[in-house]
Amino acid sequence: MRRSGGDEVAQMLLAEELPLSQAESQLLELAREFSRREVGPNAARWERERAYPRETIRAAAGLGLTRIQIPAALGGLDLRFRAKVRVVEEIARDDFAFAFALVNTHNAAARLARDGNDSQRARYLDGLVRGELIGAVSLTEPSAGSDFPAIRARAERVAGGWLLNGEKAWLTNGAAVDVVVVYAQTDAAAGARGIAAFVVDAKRKGFERGAAYGLAGAHAIGAAGFKLDKYFAADDDVFYAPGAAFKNALASITGARVYVAAMCCGMVEEALGLALARARSRSTFGRPLIERQGLRWMLADVATDFEAARLLAYRATRLLEAGQDAVLAAAHAKKFATRMAERRLPECMQVFGAEGLMEAHPIGRHLAAARAAHYADGTTEMQNERIAAYLERGIPGGLSDA
Ligand SMILES: Cc1cc2nc3c(=O)[nH]c(=O)nc-3n(C[C@H](O)[C@H](O)[C@H](O)COP(=O)(O)OP(=O)(O)OC[C@H]3O[C@@H](n4cnc5c(N)ncnc54)[C@H](O)[C@@H]3O)c2cc1C
Repeated sequence: MRRSGGDEVAQMLLAEELPLSQAESQLLELAREFSRREVGPNAARWERERAYPRETIRAAAGLGLTRIQIPAALGGLDLRFRAKVRVVEEIARDDFAFAFALVNTHNAAARLARDGNDSQRARYLDGLVRGELIGAVSLTEPSAGSDFPAIRARAERVAGGWLLNGEKAWLTNGAAVDVVVVYAQTDAAAGARGIAAFVVDAKRKGFERGAAYGLAGAHAIGAAGFKLDKYFAADDDVFYAPGAAFKNALASITGARVYVAAMCCGMVEEALGLALARARSRSTFGRPLIERQGLRWMLADVATDFEAARLLAYRATRLLEAGQDAVLAAAHAKKFATRMAERRLPECMQVFGAEGLMEAHPIGRHLAAARAAHYADGTTEMQNERIAAYLERGIPGGLSDA
């Protein structure tokens, strides 16, 4: 598929709101070139073959895309959160699923760098940032998703460590994962305070990998479940002690909501660019489609929603970087951006007529991904719960003062 339209829109709707340093701009440019060359041309095939793009993740790691938020002292690029946001937004223009798989392995590495102990870092960090190892973070279970404190995977204290038992679900990268931060309950009576997290090695005895899920789209995410059957986690493998795990899980999910919102913007930006290029070049009844008011206004509405969604995502990015409470801003951004993508992608698709349905065309794939984005890192309803909780107790300097 020809790619001129998206790039034109990228210039037209320039991202002034989130300026980048020189190093961040250079990385974004590398990511852009890599994505156009390696991700876009392969994404439809990954989907058709239900393939996990392990080699392409490794190649992305070779460019530094798994080192963005890792301190320089540990071999990272030490860039700001916004660099990650912009990189995954850009790659999602080609394939949300690949960008999501990549950012999840990056995050596992960044968490190990930040919160892991020396032994954990020595064993896994270098492999993760080089893309030799695939990482992931596992909260969800077959019977507990939104209700995270209800997880049933158990960690039982034994001599020298913990025995882990239970079933986990919906692990991004699960099809190929090598190292997983797994949340498990140490004391059911303590609820959220009893939850701890462990570094689990997929090659060790007691880890049973499930088959990759057959999904309605987004296969490059490599989503799969796994079981832990008397898996022994030594004391060295404890990642967050009971009491610290729940808080850390919530903090990292706020960031994830922000970049998922930006990724939805990336998909819509690409779709709008393609739709505009098509509307200019295709004529019916003697006039280019772009001259039809119904159609041009439809695309104008796409552009307005896209701008609004990106502003919300970038505002949440700035708040998060400034160390301020970004929970509300992230919830607004994710809810609005996922809904915006789901509503506006079909409008871009409409411009292509029947051709938009063809497998090689990215917008159908983006639409399936926009659906997945409604669940990943907290559902739309959970965003509403967060927003409503703020409304209930009053937003400082906000709506309640009016
Ligand atoms: C592509 C993808 C990748 C993912 N990657 C990961 C990963 O790497 N690691 C991981 O741990 N998990 C991952 N997940 C799982 C994701 O976090 C869960 O799907 C999500 O938390 C929702 O849980 P659930 O699917 O079990 O839905 P449920 O919690 O069963 O909810 C079902 C429906 O009910 C709604 N609902 C639930 N409670 C309420 C309520 N109180 N009020 C109103 N509505 C409610 C929900 O919003 C949802 O629409 C991934 C999911 C997807 C789709």
